[in-house]
Formats: sequence, structure tokens, C-alpha cells
Amino acid sequence: MDRSSNLKIVKARTEPWDIVIIGGGATGSGCALDAASRGYSTLLVEQHDFGKGTSSRSTKLIHGGVRYLRQGNISLVREALRERSILLKNAPHVVRKQAFVIPCYSLWQKVFYGFGMKVYDLLAGRHNIGASRIISREETLRHLPNLKEQNLSGGVLYYDGQFDDTRLLIDILRTANERGAVVLNYAKVAALTKDAEGKINGLEFEDTETGEKFSVAAKCVINATGAFSDPVRKMSDAGAKNIITFAQGIHLVFDRKFLPSDSALMIPKTSDGRVLFCIPWHDHLMVGTTDTAVETAEIEPHALESEIDFILETAAEYLTAKPARDDILSIFAGIRPLVKNASNVKTSSLSRGHDLFVDASGLITITGGKWTTYRRMAEDAVDKAAAITGVAPRKCVTEDLPITGPPHTDIESERLHPDLPYTQADVMHAVRFEMARKLEDVLGRRTRALFLNAQAAVEVSRKVAEIMAAELRKDNDWTNTEVASFEDLSSSYSRPFA
Ligand SMILES: Cc1cc2nc3c(=O)[nH]c(=O)nc-3n(C[C@H](O)[C@H](O)[C@H](O)COP(=O)(O)OP(=O)(O)OC[C@H]3O[C@@H](n4cnc5c(N)ncnc54)[C@H](O)[C@@H]3O)c2cc1C
Repeated sequence: MDRSSNLKIVKARTEPWDIVIIGGGATGSGCALDAASRGYSTLLVEQHDFGKGTSSRSTKLIHGGVRYLRQGNISLVREALRERSILLKNAPHVVRKQAFVIPCYSLWQKVFYGFGMKVYDLLAGRHNIGASRIISREETLRHLPNLKEQNLSGGVLYYDGQFDDTRLLIDILRTANERGAVVLNYAKVAALTKDAEGKINGLEFEDTETGEKFSVAAKCVINATGAFSDPVRKMSDAGAKNIITFAQGIHLVFDRKFLPSDSALMIPKTSDGRVLFCIPWHDHLMVGTTDTAVETAEIEPHALESEIDFILETAAEYLTAKPARDDILSIFAGIRPLVKNASNVKTSSLSRGHDLFVDASGLITITGGKWTTYRRMAEDAVDKAAAITGVAPRKCVTEDLPITGPPHTDIESERLHPDLPYTQADVMHAVRFEMARKLEDVLGRRTRALFLNAQAAVEVSRKVAEIMAAELRKDNDWTNTEVASFEDLSSSYSRPFA
């Protein structure tokens, strides 16, 4: 992927695009891959960096959702379990099978959760990735070495998928790009254009790096802007009612010593009625998440003190050596875009299924859903695009389409920091082949340094900015500005004061 070549293609194009997608998160990137692999001319524009929104801030699970099973949302669980097996097949380099253990402190819990997970297995059917089973106290402790032992009677072992969200995102975009999709980050849509009949026939965006304005013609526009869907819908219909409501979720990242195991801990019921996961991730421990109704969607949301306390307190109920505030290596928050289905409903009970809306001018909005179901969401959106715009219908092919990983490089390279698993070559690769433009793109989303250890990420920021400046032919001022703005950004990922 190369940004300047992609910009040149956009400038040279005189024909309308078959499909233009707004938003470079999981949903929009999935749409770009789906549309390009069907043979449609496809453009995707993202206002910040790819994955800057919710799609970099997930719990990193490719799952049916045990929680949705408890809510009785059988069709959503089945669909997600099917998508899980498609992803394990198509992207095995980034999605893997993960063992989870639900600890049980009574016989009743063993029976209840043991039965629940058998239903989960059954719903997966031939897509199941490993049978769940009730395990003994000893086996539970072997899986979860730092678990509280008092009154522990055993556990339930089950399997789900785990991944690195932005790594998969970049690989989806790379595969889409290889199939002919043109993808641009730092391209902010400012307006939609319409023909004499009031039908959308294109859009205007700004290259936020240069300020240059572009107007592109399109047979169809898909709005895949997640939590930002309503402002884009209002570009089409100023009077459109808001359909999205927001729920924030945060995660805390700790040293692996708090769960020195390859298995994950699943806490099936917290004081707010949710589940909480403690998951090994890139040799760290990630704990989350919360579900807090928030009024507005920020592109860079901030964890609330109450959310941090809730995670620390819940983890402390289950772990013998308890992580404290001082142990937090990184904090990240994300906003769930939930489609409203009624007024006065708690956000945690709103549907995680996806929704498709088409307004009078033909703007397609695809939103809600989960990372796990991004492929299915894209299929539905592109089917709809073909149905309403007169582009020739073509069959979706993504079910059997491998998602390509980064090319293998043998470059010997120095590690950036003893506490981070990244090298100088990773930085060069991100700039040369993955369209990283800013320091936070490399430290937050091409590598996951900021999400793993915010302090270490700050410590390497100047070195990384200098490597990037050499690659991008930028001067010292650029380096200084990038380092300063990264330090500013990283403060909300850093350990809060006790
Ligand atoms: C805390 C949390 C944990 C989660 N955990 C999981 C999980 O473990 N597994 C799972 O399957 N799902 C999970 N999810 C859900 C999943 O992360 C989301 O459903 C998914 O990432 C939404 O992707 P999206 O592309 O719709 O939105 P986003 O990723 O937010 O992408 C929308 C993009 O649109 C861009 N945009 C907005 N306006 C414009 C404009 N005018 N011009 C150009 N671009 C624009 C934004 O910058 C943004 O990048 C979780 C969600 C949260 C919040």
C-alpha cells in the first residue's frame, strides 16, 4: 500500500467509482475488500489513520459472545461462531485459537457454566474449534496459576478466537489494495454531492496532510463510520434523526506475571452484570472491559476513574497477587456504536447485531455489529449497494478469500526497547508498506507499543520519529512536533495517579 500512488489514482480517475466507502475501521475495510474482490472499482477514505476509531480498541476476541448467549441472542451467537471459523481459515497468521477457563466456586456454578458452554459448542456445530469441558480444581489452577484458591471447586474450559485487531485491519486493507481497492488515510469527508433527482452521486474530501480538496464521483456511497455514522447521515439529510448511541469500554494492560499462563481467565458475572476477560496478549495481560453509557463519541476517548476502579476491584476478587494502579502499563478506551432500538434502555442490553439503513438519497449506512462479524456486515452492505445503484450484481467471494499477511523480511534490526517486542525494521516496514504517516500510527496501530506499555512507547518515541523522518523525508521540526503530540496523546494511556 502506498499513499502517494493511491492519491495519484484518485486524481487521474475520470469515471465514477462503483463504490466509495467512508471509514477505515473494521466495517469500512471489510466493505473495501468485499467490493474490490467482486470486481467493483472501490475507493475507501478514512479521516484519521486506519483503525484510529473503535477498531483498534477491542478486547481482541473473535468470538460468538458468551454474554450474548446468556441474553438468549442465539442467531447473533451462531452467525459470529460461523464467522469465527471463516476468519481462522482465512487469516490464520493473525487469528488463533485461545483457551479460556471460567473458575467455579460451587458445584452449581460448574453445572451451570458447564451446560452453558456445551450449548455454545452446539451452536457452533461443525464450526466448533474445541469441545468445552468441566475441569478439576487442580487443572483449573494449572491453567490459571495466580487464581484465588479459596473455595475453588474447579472450572470450565472452552475455546474461542483471539487476534490483534489493527494487524488484521491492515492485512484486510492490504488484501483489498492488492485486489484493486484504492485506500486513503488522512482523507476526511466533508460533504456528499447529489444529482438533480437528489440521489447521491459522489463526495468531497480533504487530504488533511496538505489541505488539498478532492471531489469524486460515485455510483454508490457506503457510510461505515461507526460511532460517527450520524454526522455523515446528516451530510445527506440534515433532518435525519440520530440512530446511534454510545457505550464506552476500557481495558487495562499489565505485566504477564499476574496471569503467567497461555490460558485466559473469563469472569462470567461482574457486579455490573457483564463478563470480564483477563487475556494473554503479546506477552502482556489485558483485562477488560466495561460498558459505560457516554453522551458523545470522541475519536480519542478517555477512561473514567470509576471504570479503572471497577476493573482493578473485579480482578482483585479473582487473583491472589492483585494488580494495583501502579502496575498499569497501558489504559485504552473505545466507543461501541450501538443502534438505538428503544428509549430508556440500558446500553449493555442493546443489540450487538448489525444494521443497514438506506436513506432517500441512496446513502447506505452499515453500523453496529462486532469485529468478528465484519465480513458478514460487508457482504450485506455491498449486496445492498448492488441492489440499489444498478452496478451489476456479483457474488460475494470473501468467505473463501485468504487475507494476506505482511511479506516476510529478513532484515537484521535492533530492538527498539527491552520491554517492547518491536524493531527498527518494523518502523521502516510500517512507513514503506503500510501507510503509517504519523508517530502514533506506528506506535499505536502498526506496532501496539502504546497499547502494551505507554511509558516504554514514550521512551522510544524520538528514536521512532527519527526513523520515520528519514523514510518520509521530513525535517527536525516535523520530528519535534510528532514527539510532542505523541507525548500528549500517551498521557491518557498512562498509569493514573493513585
Ligand atoms: C471496548 C470494546 C471492546 C470490543 N471488543 C470486541 C471483541 O473482542 N470482539 C469483537 O468482535 N468486537 C468487539 N468490539 C466491537 C468492535 O470493536 C466494533 O464493532 C468495530 O470495531 C466497529 O468498527 P467500525 O469500522 O464500524 O467503526 P470504527 O472502527 O470506529 O471506524 C469508523 C471510522 O470512520 C472514520 N470516520 C468518521 N467520520 C469520517 C469522515 N467524515 N470521513 C472519513 N472517515 C470518517 C473514523 O475516523 C473511524 O476510523 C468491541 C468494542 C469495544 C468498544
